[in-house]
Amino acid sequence: MSAKPLPSDFVLDLHDLASIVLHCHARFEDRFVNTQLVEVNNGTTRLQSLPPHILPQQWDIAGAINKQRRIAYILRKDPSLSERVEVNTFAHPEGVKLPPSFKLGTRELEDILWRCKTFDSGYLLAYVAQSVFERLPGTARLHARTSSGHEIFCAPSDVMVAEFEILPHETCCMVAYKPRPDLGPTRVDLEQHLSGMGNIVPWIYLMIGKPISEDLDTDTRVVFDLAITQIGGRGAGGELFALERGFDYHNKLLCRYAEEQGDLQVSGKLMMSPVALRKQGDTLTDMVMERLQKLASGNVDFCRYCGKDDISTRCTKCKKAWFCRDCQAPGWKYHKVWCRPSVQE
Ligand SMILES: [Zn+2]
Ligand SMILES: [Zn+2]
Repeated sequence: MSAKPLPSDFVLDLHDLASIVLHCHARFEDRFVNTQLVEVNNGTTRLQSLPPHILPQQWDIAGAINKQRRIAYILRKDPSLSERVEVNTFAHPEGVKLPPSFKLGTRELEDILWRCKTFDSGYLLAYVAQSVFERLPGTARLHARTSSGHEIFCAPSDVMVAEFEILPHETCCMVAYKPRPDLGPTRVDLEQHLSGMGNIVPWIYLMIGKPISEDLDTDTRVVFDLAITQIGGRGAGGELFALERGFDYHNKLLCRYAEEQGDLQVSGKLMMSPVALRKQGDTLTDMVMERLQKLASGNVDFCRYCGKDDISTRCTKCKKAWFCRDCQAPGWKYHKVWCRPSVQE
């Protein structure tokens, strides 16, 4: 791995970092590589693509006893797919079975894809971001700009870890199956991933900036949450992560998707104790650092929305921010806040 240090005056834009981390994570995670969506079920109709008993008992409890909103995603594994599934290839080509009046557009597909990918990755992603900050030169600056027009700069060491618990408004079950015709015509291998299921979920984000005030109303620090899609959420600018002022995050964003439980525990450093998880985090950090080195050496042609690199189209107004063709529209809600027209010479 190349270990060329980043320049001492490097400025890391956190919105860019988030897109890059999530893109690297999507290339790296190995559970939803070749799974395609075949059904969305919200408990109002019978499961159509698999026998109903494959849903876990918690699914019935969440609906019948806890009266929780429920969503199940049925995914089919196809080991013969040669390319990693992305949002454009995520819907199964034979169609996706949907509950009545459920709309499945690109945005919804993207929500589901990311919800699967991040369902248990909150700690991993926070650890990666923290490791990146630790590897920056001490003289580098972090730059956070939110979709509400709030902006701060700070040192890479002005970062705290915040942990608390949430109760998601919606319980979610992902079932990935692989047909096993070798064992019988109706046999399948099953993998279940559950999120919420009426239980509280540990939650983590990084708090960026120098503490100005203990009071959330006046504090200028910014929340950096890379796993909001895990509970069906997005950032206030429609991003696949949240980068918001603390007050906005807690009072306007998170409450749309979950109820906060207990107190916020704040610490200086996230210890990733399980060795395997820490190793994953370190490998992912290496990938991200390599991308940052490219960025520092002038290769800024990566998509500001999805993080993909080596793309060829950019914002026609500022001519500075690159976007994939399909990402221009979803990326504009945030970008328009900070886009400045380029001055013609
Ligand atoms: Zn893109
Ligand atoms: Zn622009």
